[in-house]
Order: sequence, then C-alpha cells, then structure tokens
Amino acid sequence: MARVFVITGPSGVGKGTLIRGLMERLPDLELSVSATTREPRAGERDGVDYHFLSRDEFDRRVAAGDFVEHADYAGRSYGTLRSELEDRVAAGVPVVLEIEVQGARQVRAAMPEAVQVFIAPPSLPALRTRLVGRGTDDAAEVERRLQVAEQELAAQPEFGHVVVNDRLDDALEQLTTVVSDELD
Ligand code: ADP
Ligand code: 5GP
Repeated sequence: MARVFVITGPSGVGKGTLIRGLMERLPDLELSVSATTREPRAGERDGVDYHFLSRDEFDRRVAAGDFVEHADYAGRSYGTLRSELEDRVAAGVPVVLEIEVQGARQVRAAMPEAVQVFIAPPSLPALRTRLVGRGTDDAAEVERRLQVAEQELAAQPEFGHVVVNDRLDDALEQLTTVVSDELD
C-alpha cells in the first residue's frame, strides 16, 4: 500500500499551496519537514517549515547517513531526514514529501513504492509571474530558480503522475484524486 507521496516540480509552481489544500482534504496525511541550509524567510519557523541547519551541521548529518535523500538547489542544500519518515512509515502513517527533482529521483531509487507526482506550470511565463508575485525571492534568486525550472520541466516524463496547476481548484481536485486512489 502506498504510504509515501513525493510532490515535486519547479519552485513557484504551487506545490506548497496544493499540499496545504490536500492536507485539509485528507487530514490523515502528515508532512515531512525538510532540512535546509537556506536562510529562513520572514515568518518561517524552525522545525515547522524547515529544520534550518548550518552548513557544518548539514554536512555532518549527510556523513552520518541521516538523510533519505539530499540535493543542492540554487546554491543551498536541502534534504529529507530519515527521522521524518521511519516511524511514520513503520506505523502506516501516510507521509508527504515536498522536494525538488534530484531528491525525487533518489527516493524513487530507494523506495520504488513511493507515489511520485510532478506539478507542472501552464507555461514558463506563468511560473515567472508566480515566483515574482510570491514576493519571497529577489530578482537574482527568481532567475536562478527559473533556470533550474527549465531542467526540471524536462524531467516531467519520468513521473507517473503529472498535474498541471493552471486553475488551482482543478489541480487540487486532480492531486486529491491521485492521492486518495493510492491510499484506498
Ligand atoms: P512552490 O511551493 O511550488 O514553490 P507556492 O505554493 O509557494 O509554490 O506558490 C507560488 C505562488 O503561486 C504563490 O504566491 C501562490 O499563491 C501562487 N499560486 C499557486 N497556485 C496558483 C494557481 N493555480 N494560479 C495562480 N497562482 C498560484
Ligand atoms: P524553497 O527554498 O523555495 O523552500 O525550496 C526550494 C526547492 O527545494 C523546492 O523545489 C523544494 O521543493 C525543494 N526542497 C524542499 N525540501 C527539500 C528536501 O528535503 N529535499 C529536496 N531534494 N528538495 C527539497
């Protein structure tokens, strides 16, 4: 039975927004809190939005084998800690991972039973509009993320499920259907 759900896709496509909606609709799901070396954004809380780690601490935990997957993205490191998954998987609690494409590939190799969903934008200009509109990243960071997005979009055919996030309500409906079908 599927118990690990990987939601991937370019930054700004709406992964976080969709996952919030998904978790309201399917309250048994729990979200894995990732670790990162990036600075917290305004309002982000340590241990809630991310485990914010120093570079040394992140590298130490990589060397200790604490991560299920980890990857560099736009100059920072991000990873899923085993401690976020192991107890939940053992207890049969369904877990959602919101991660970028390189990490999704590592999870696919380590846990082929995990369900992988790629969230795609309706177009690159729409993605740019969302990244700029979110207001969390300066212009240089937006450009870095859009450059990575072009490579990430090329990886779309690798994924078993693709949801185009054009109209939010439609995309949320599709994502909820994919996840609830796999949970049944
Ligand atoms: P991600 O988690 O993939 O980086 P976010 O969930 O932060 O993306 O969404 C990026 C921005 O796009 C947010 O400002 C969000 O409100 C907006 N957004 C999300 N989905 C849609 C949509 N379907 N149409 C228009 N804007 C959207
Ligand atoms: P942000 O800085 O916008 O929070 O995240 C940047 C990118 O890192 C997003 O694509 C997000 O999905 C991804 N990300 C967040 N957590 C993880 C993680 O644990 N592992 C990997 N590989 N990517 C992650």
